[in-house]
Amino acid sequence: MGEPEIYCPQCTWRPLGTSRWLCTPKMGGCGTIWNTFWTGGVCPGCGYRWEITICLACRKFSPHRDWYHWPEPATHEEQHEREAEDSSSH
Ligand SMILES: [Zn+2]
Ligand SMILES: [Zn+2]
Repeated sequence: MGEPEIYCPQCTWRPLGTSRWLCTPKMGGCGTIWNTFWTGGVCPGCGYRWEITICLACRKFSPHRDWYHWPEPATHEEQHEREAEDSSSH
């Protein structure tokens, strides 16, 4: 298993290490500001798990899990092609 790529499912914006989300009091949150991808959507202030995460670029909400894009398991053939490409580019 590789690492998932994390980006907005609607506009493909990638969160930065410096990106911050608000546990928004308007929606019953506690006002904590943190990077939601460090905790898997769990607010470190009140422990609430946010099922939705707003994109700081397009301002649209998406389910938190939809931000994680796991690599497709490559078939043997595809892997072989990729290796051939790598060696020819050197
Ligand atoms: Zn977006
Ligand atoms: Zn909170």
